[in-house]
Amino acid sequence: MARMYYDEDANLDLLNDKTVAIIGYGSQGHAHALNLKNSGVNVIVGLYEGSKSIPQAEDAGLTVKNVADASKAADLIMILLPDEVQRSVYENEIKPNLSAGNILAFAHGFNIHFGQVVPPADVDTIMVAPKGPGHLVRRTYEQGEGVPCLFAVYQDATGQARDRAMAYAKGIGGTRAGILETSFREETETDLFGEQAVLCGGLSELIKSGFQTLVEAGYQPELAYFECLHEVKLIVDLIVEGGLAQMRDSISNTAEYGDYTRGPRLITSETRAEMRKILQEIQSGQFAREFVLENQAGKPGFTAMRRQEAEQPIEEVGKDLRAMFSWLKK
Ligand code: NAD
Ligand code: MG
Repeated sequence: MARMYYDEDANLDLLNDKTVAIIGYGSQGHAHALNLKNSGVNVIVGLYEGSKSIPQAEDAGLTVKNVADASKAADLIMILLPDEVQRSVYENEIKPNLSAGNILAFAHGFNIHFGQVVPPADVDTIMVAPKGPGHLVRRTYEQGEGVPCLFAVYQDATGQARDRAMAYAKGIGGTRAGILETSFREETETDLFGEQAVLCGGLSELIKSGFQTLVEAGYQPELAYFECLHEVKLIVDLIVEGGLAQMRDSISNTAEYGDYTRGPRLITSETRAEMRKILQEIQSGQFAREFVLENQAGKPGFTAMRRQEAEQPIEEVGKDLRAMFSWLKK
């Protein structure tokens, strides 16, 4: 079993005399900034002039500077911008303001692993990646708990990079739940694979295909929505709580028999071969190149796909049904 580290393994004092700049105040940014502040860390927020997040951060009692000034003032700079803008913000506003012994930190390895950000040799480069969305990172912290994190060292300039990463993880509440050591490469490749093959890509297509099959066969779209989308959460909650076994304990024997006999007909050797191909495209940098170029081109394909997906019948039906639930609840 891989080792998990907890509160007693990490030393928050390593951040005592440090200023931490959180760059970006989105999903992860607001949670890291507020948790660190509540942990007694001296934290500032870096945002571009005119950002809508400035009043929010200031109302929460945080000092806000532009990205360059925040980077200059800080010892530890945590970049919590969307992955596709990190390279240009780093080049223009962060890199010129780094000094020897600083710590550059990330919550996902993409930009370092694929060479989009190349830190100077005298700067520690670390990752602390919560395995959950920002609102959970904040909410669990307020409840005295935390979200498990991955941590990694890419470059240890000071001999302290690993301890500093663990201290940061403690500051955001991660060591309350447990943190697991990894590398930038492993985190990046497994994170991309998980979201593409299972969590986002795989699951979305499975839901849509099930819905389409029922609707094309003449069943009511509302029923198809319940069966193929709404109930996913009930099943996933059981799986997360007690593994596949607990889910199979809770469902009917009819459902369990259908699971064993029909599931393997959907995810076939052909599907698994495609999964390996998707993984190989991640490992070779082909996916990263495609995503970087797509963004450089102004996201023409990304924008079109977003629109097409929003127009899917399941989305239309879902919007109406969910509006009805909230009306029923009142
Ligand atoms: P987000 O989109 O929620 O927030 C990004 C922030 O950056 C916003 O405050 C936005 O205003 C700001 N921003 C956008 N463009 C900017 C620009 N050009 N200059 C300056 N600021 C700009 O992002 P997020 O989901 O919190 O992701 C941040 C990082 O955390 C990413 O590396 C991501 O992979 C990682 N991460 C996210 C999650 C998650 O669940 N959201 C989980 C783990 C790791
Ligand atoms: Mg992810």
